[in-house]
Amino acid sequence: MTGARELSACRACGAQLRSFMSFGRMPLANAFLAPAEFSKEYFYELKPALCGGCGLFQITEQPAPEQMFHPQYAFFTRTSKSMVAHFGAYARWVQTQFAPNFVVEVGCNDGVLLETFARQGVQHLGIEPSANVAAVAEKHGVRTQVAFFGEAVARDVRTRHGAADVILAANVICHIPDIRGVAAGVAALLGPKGVFVFEEPYLGAMIDKGSYDQIYDEHVFIFSAQSVAALFRPFGLELIQCLPQPTHGGSMRYVVARAGARPVTESVARTLALEDMQGLQRSETYEHFRARCERNREQLVGLVRDLRAKGHRVVGYAATSKSTTVLNYCGLGPDDIEFISDTTPEKQGKFTPGTHIPVRPHEDFTRRYPDFAVLFGWNHEAEILGKEQAFAAAGGKWIKFVPGVQLA
Ligand SMILES: [Zn+2]
Repeated sequence: MTGARELSACRACGAQLRSFMSFGRMPLANAFLAPAEFSKEYFYELKPALCGGCGLFQITEQPAPEQMFHPQYAFFTRTSKSMVAHFGAYARWVQTQFAPNFVVEVGCNDGVLLETFARQGVQHLGIEPSANVAAVAEKHGVRTQVAFFGEAVARDVRTRHGAADVILAANVICHIPDIRGVAAGVAALLGPKGVFVFEEPYLGAMIDKGSYDQIYDEHVFIFSAQSVAALFRPFGLELIQCLPQPTHGGSMRYVVARAGARPVTESVARTLALEDMQGLQRSETYEHFRARCERNREQLVGLVRDLRAKGHRVVGYAATSKSTTVLNYCGLGPDDIEFISDTTPEKQGKFTPGTHIPVRPHEDFTRRYPDFAVLFGWNHEAEILGKEQAFAAAGGKWIKFVPGVQLA
C-alpha cells in the first residue's frame, strides 16, 4: 500500500472522521490489467467514514494521485444511450429554469451536457482535466480549457470571460479531493444571481438500497443535502433546491446560490427532514449498513459457490468500476466467475483489478449463454434485461445483489 495516505480529519470541515468499516485491500476500480501487470498491481485500503461535524461521507485513505487518471484512463459519457438522453433533459431543465448567458461546466467530459448550449449559441466553457477527453468535446463544438477546477482556475476564467450565470457539473464533484477548492472556485466565479447546479450519487439512496458498490477510489465523497449545505455555507453560498434523479442507482441534483440571492425552495427542508428520518447522521445507521454489507457478501458468495458446485456456469455482466468493490470485498475470482462480459473495447482481453477475472466481448456471452449472470450493471437493469431477453428465454437467470441477493 505504497503512496496512500490515511486521513483522520474531514476534507471539508476538518472535524474528526468516524470510520465504521473496511472493505479491505482494494485495487483501483478502473485499473483493468494484463497478466504481465499482475505482480505490480497497486492496492490501498478502502475504508469509508462519516464526518462527525458536517456529516460528509468520504473514504479515509486516498490512493496516490499518480496511480489515478493514468493515460489509458478514459470514460466517455457518450457511450451510454440512457446517459445521453439524461444529459439532454438535464441541459433543457437548466435552460428553462435559469436561461443562462454564460455556462461553465466542471469536468465537461466529452461535452455531452454543454453541447445543447453550444448548439444554441450560448456562451460556454468546459473545464476538463483530461486532454484527450476534452479533444472529443471540442470535436462536438464545445469550447474547453484543459485544467483541474479550483479557486485559481475559477478566478482566471472570470477575468477572461466574466462571471458565470450557471456553473454545471455531473458525477464529477464527488471525485475531487480538494472539495474546499471547488467551493471557493464556485464562490469566485458565480455572478450575483448565478447558480451552481450539480448532480452526484446520493447517500440516502445508497443507504436505502445497501448499494455499497458506490464506494470506490474515484468516489471520494458521497453527498447528502445536509453535507452539501454545510460545505458551501462558509463560502457565502446556500443550498436552494434538491431534485432526486434515477441515474447511477439514485442521484441527487443540487442547486446552490449566493446566500439570500434566490428563494430557498421547500425541497431543501423536505430533503433534510427525510435524511433526518433515515438517520443519515446517526452512527447506528452505519452499523446497520456494515452488517448489511457483510450479510450481502455471505449470501452472494454462498449462492455463486453453490451454483458452481452443482456444475453451473456463472459469468458476470458489465465490468463496471463498481464491480471492483464487490469482487474484491467478496473475494470472488475466476474459479467462481468464468468471465465478465463487457462492450468496452479497451477492457476486453484484460482482467478485473485485484481478482483477475477475464473480461470478454459481449459476443462471448451471447454465443453460448451461461446458466447464471451476475448483474454488475444493476443501475441499468431495465435497459439490460430488455436487451437480453434471449438469455432469459434460453433459461438463463440473473443474480442480483442490490438491494439484496436474489435470482431474477
Ligand atoms: Zn466535515
